[in-house]
Amino acid sequence: MINVDKIRADFPILKREINGKPLVYFDNAATSQTPQVVIDAIVDYYSNYNANIHRGVHTLSQEATDKYEEARIKIQHHFNAKHAYEIILTSGTTDSINRVASGFASLLNKGDEIIVSALEHHSNIVPWQMLCEKTGAILKVIPMLEDGSLDMKAYHNLVNEKTKLVFCNHVSNALGTVNPIEEIIETAHKFGAAVLIDGAQATPHIKPDVQALNVDFYVASAHKLCGPTGVGMLYGKQEWLEKLPPYQGGGEMIDTVTFEKTTYAGLPHKFEAGTPNICGGIAFGTAIDYMNAVGFDNIASYEDELLKYGTKELLKIEGLKIYGTTSEKTAVISFNVGEIHPYDIGVILDKLGVAVRTGHHCAQPIMDFYKIPGTVRASFSFYNTKEEIDIMITALKRAVAMLS
Ligand SMILES: *Cc1c(COP(=O)(O)O)cnc(C)c1O
Repeated sequence: MINVDKIRADFPILKREINGKPLVYFDNAATSQTPQVVIDAIVDYYSNYNANIHRGVHTLSQEATDKYEEARIKIQHHFNAKHAYEIILTSGTTDSINRVASGFASLLNKGDEIIVSALEHHSNIVPWQMLCEKTGAILKVIPMLEDGSLDMKAYHNLVNEKTKLVFCNHVSNALGTVNPIEEIIETAHKFGAAVLIDGAQATPHIKPDVQALNVDFYVASAHKLCGPTGVGMLYGKQEWLEKLPPYQGGGEMIDTVTFEKTTYAGLPHKFEAGTPNICGGIAFGTAIDYMNAVGFDNIASYEDELLKYGTKELLKIEGLKIYGTTSEKTAVISFNVGEIHPYDIGVILDKLGVAVRTGHHCAQPIMDFYKIPGTVRASFSFYNTKEEIDIMITALKRAVAMLS
């Protein structure tokens, strides 16, 4: 059970007013808010043990190293990775995907096929297009259906012996669709293809088990699960991380360096050149502890209540259409009202204190599919309430009255 009043007290920003109105924050799919414990972890690092890690013999450096490596272990346990060194700390989902895409440049040949889904965020499309340009590999797309789910029949026809890599999000950020990743992974493996799952939008709601999923790569960003911006993770199965060449050259990722030959460090350092976001990594660990203390089962059932309530109330507004209507959804509602431009609705909602996102949500192919310029997206978190949904509905009715 969620005690929402108690949880809201953990988030200082929720006391803010916007344009004289209490903040209603429904842009959680873009970034989540930060609880005081995570803010405290950041302040504690810079106040008490700010130092570079791994290289120092002095006390501060050792304290910072210990905390940073503890965070890696928290992340390992959270995702149930077999080894801590299979967790690479990155600057976020986009960075994680680019590290894998760059590594595959040396493993792909002309004519190899890689498969993407139609529901992807641009960050899980563009790096692969760049990879295809570099290698001559061919990009195939799993089409989507009207309800915002993937056409799995088409997927089964796309995978074959030429398929080397499949990548798909666990949950679509634009529509909230939860994709059947178990089936995607199992099918790809029958043909020896590797699978990368973009978990940026799933991890705030679902606790993934990378071993049970048998996934090859799983990526996420801390800032969508109550952590700070600028830090994220890349899980890779050991065998894959060993196969991929290092991503960047620099300090930390080497074993020995001479001008004749450099040998690379082992995992995870091979993929972590330079000084990382030390404070961010530590605070990521704190955020995971916080989310687990709230409990992912509690989060999922409470957010589902918000989703059902929000959907029901929104559909009472004449001319309102929701995009993404499968039963397998997280608490994201993407909608338009009649012909009103989503941007105009977003501006008026902001005047009334309600933060939603408008536009293509970095998923232009989905908008093209529906032949719309974008949507208004309200995305809920476990610290939101039904009362806030009511405030949004009232504000939306005012906006619609003004704009139609
Ligand atoms: C937010 C998001 C990304 C990008 O995450 P960054 O933190 O901006 O790198 C990628 N994929 C999905 C599904 C997302 O929701």
